[in-house]
Amino acid sequence: MPETPSPEPRSSHPATPPLIRGSCLCGAVAFEVRGELTPIQLCHATRCRKATGGAFAPELLVADADLHWLKGREAVRVYEAPLLEEPPAYRRAFCAHCGSPLPQAIEGTGFTGLLAGVLDDDPGTRPFRHAFTDHQAAWLDTVDALPRFGGRPPRPGG
Ligand SMILES: [Zn+2]
Repeated sequence: MPETPSPEPRSSHPATPPLIRGSCLCGAVAFEVRGELTPIQLCHATRCRKATGGAFAPELLVADADLHWLKGREAVRVYEAPLLEEPPAYRRAFCAHCGSPLPQAIEGTGFTGLLAGVLDDDPGTRPFRHAFTDHQAAWLDTVDALPRFGGRPPRPGG
């Protein structure tokens, strides 16, 4: 029997984690995620609305080890807001040149938080819940069927 050629290696091998790129508005900072991103939480907290200028912050998490800075890490600044009630402090990373929100490690968790709007690729995950809807903007009309929490939703596994 003639030898059959072995099949081409598949580019979408199941063991290969997805690669998702992100960057700031001016392009000075770029990063990529080599791994899974969590589903997206839409956070309506007043500070999240101010930090983004949007109706809510589309937040997701990635394991620290899966986040790789491609360029411009030296341009990343961190703003820490005054403590409102109790820790943890509210911190927001941003580009020193254009102000885009950027990934920010969440101390003591092993995870980095980021906003879906700075991703250049489809994260592969979708919104799964709203948080802090007590702070929801008066002008936002939500008619979706996602679960809603008046304050902080329960943590995963907790
Ligand atoms: Zn920038």
